[in-house]
Amino acid sequence: MITVQLADRVKNLPPYLFASIDKMKQNALSKGVDLIDMSIGDPDIPTPKHIVDAMKKAVENPEHHRYPSYEGMLSYREAAAGWYKHRFNVSLDPKTEVLSLIGSKEGIGHIPLAFLNPGDIVLVPSPGYPVYPVATLFAGGESYTMPLKEENGFLPDFKTIPADILKRAKLMFLNYPNNPTAATAHAELYKDAIELAEKYNIIICHDAAYSEIYYDNEKPMSFLELDGAKDVGIEFHSLSKTYNMTGWRIGFAAGNSDVLAGLGKIKTNLDSGVFQAIQEASIVALQTEDAILSGIRRIYQERRDSLYGGLKELGLRIIKPKATFYLWAKVPSGFDSTDFVTFLLEKAGVLGTPGVGFGAPGEGYIRFALTQSTKRIKEAAERIKSAIEKR
Ligand SMILES: *Cc1c(COP(=O)(O)O)cnc(C)c1O
Repeated sequence: MITVQLADRVKNLPPYLFASIDKMKQNALSKGVDLIDMSIGDPDIPTPKHIVDAMKKAVENPEHHRYPSYEGMLSYREAAAGWYKHRFNVSLDPKTEVLSLIGSKEGIGHIPLAFLNPGDIVLVPSPGYPVYPVATLFAGGESYTMPLKEENGFLPDFKTIPADILKRAKLMFLNYPNNPTAATAHAELYKDAIELAEKYNIIICHDAAYSEIYYDNEKPMSFLELDGAKDVGIEFHSLSKTYNMTGWRIGFAAGNSDVLAGLGKIKTNLDSGVFQAIQEASIVALQTEDAILSGIRRIYQERRDSLYGGLKELGLRIIKPKATFYLWAKVPSGFDSTDFVTFLLEKAGVLGTPGVGFGAPGEGYIRFALTQSTKRIKEAAERIKSAIEKR
């Protein structure tokens, strides 16, 4: 019998803060509680039919049954470049400035391996997507937290980062529209990031997974729209959230060709690319009519308005989301974020995510995902209301 010993990098993973909540959730479900689960960042709406139909056809073709190319089919990369042109008026060379990914998480998780040596620093926004610090840890790097504060519109304040940190920094992650705060960024932020990157030789990795989930017709911009962006970084895109394709595992990175080549080096040694049938279906996805996407956005907008309206009435401080399918709210006084999530689960049968799970600066907030029907969301708001009134 051997002793199975985990490696330090696994032992050093941050504690999984959702474990106790997972347990409470399972407990409630086993008791037959009619739980409204708003903790999951995974669309409940199915993939549009034209994409599923394209997949059915593609899967029949034996050409697609073999190993795909590492960097993605040229036709898929051309479709991604065409989408960029149409959506952002940004020109990309599909051969060198687009790289296919097995979901954007795969690219985000792997990129530190390409550019970090032990002890190098990665600038990581917090609260944020947990993959940024974990990928940094796996690559032997150190995360430097850029707190996203409400008073700054949940944007990082670059001026507070010490120069010695900037000198050791190799990468910076940014993510707008933002998960979990639902904040959007403006051109100024990207300009400042580009300037900083040029001065200290830092690669910018902008995670744009939610660029197409926006409200009131206010389209978020691409980092790559800015002059000089392509000199310093790349942008990660995902088909997951845009086309309700989280289970399909496809995305892409676009921008600086040297950065993409570095990431590609890691990928050629670890994976074998995206199943070509999925790439074929994704070409069709990237050409989806705007009307279909507006329909999806309308659904989220109705949900957002229902939850925002319902919670505002209660006096909960919420920042009305301009994008993403999340709502980020301040928890009432007397609670920390985990207490409040527990309270809502026990007294209202509604499950949110404690802000602290996205990093210490998320303490004091709760995230609700708009991945339930409007009817259920309205009911959740009602239940939250009566639970708070009875407190
Ligand atoms: C969902 C999500 C992703 C990753 O999605 P993939 O399915 O891996 O493409 C990346 N970043 C953020 C912030 C997300 O919420």
